Amino acid sequence: MDQLRKISLIGLTFLLLSITITGIASGQNEIPDEVTWFFGLGAAVCAVVVIFWFVIWILVAIWVYRDAEKRGSSGVLWLLIVIILGIIGIIIWLVVRPPIGGHPKEQASGRMCPNCGRPIPMDSRVCPYCGKQFESFLK
Ligand SMILES: [Zn+2]
Repeated sequence: MDQLRKISLIGLTFLLLSITITGIASGQNEIPDEVTWFFGLGAAVCAVVVIFWFVIWILVAIWVYRDAEKRGSSGVLWLLIVIILGIIGIIIWLVVRPPIGGHPKEQASGRMCPNCGRPIPMDSRVCPYCGKQFESFLK
């Protein structure tokens, strides 16, 4: 959010500056048209950038909200965290977010790989982690 505020401020400064320059230029006719155009264009570009950032930000916030709800977390809580902390909030969410649909099914099956001890699917013949092959189907 800090970045957004900074960009908004730069955009606003550019806008005010361009209005001032345009005012001086029209009054004294000393500043060439190119300069007026440059600042006008600068203000327009800044406005577009600010709007662009704002839209991206809203889309990201909506995504975090939906992602949190989908994974059984509070969407509103994470939305607030992202709004308050900004990019850091998004990073925290990406780190701590639980997998979709809770823990993988393999863990519920209780079948462990005899080689590496990790949970594996009930019907696998090869350990997906260490690649060990099992002689019998249900060992
Ligand atoms: Zn294994």
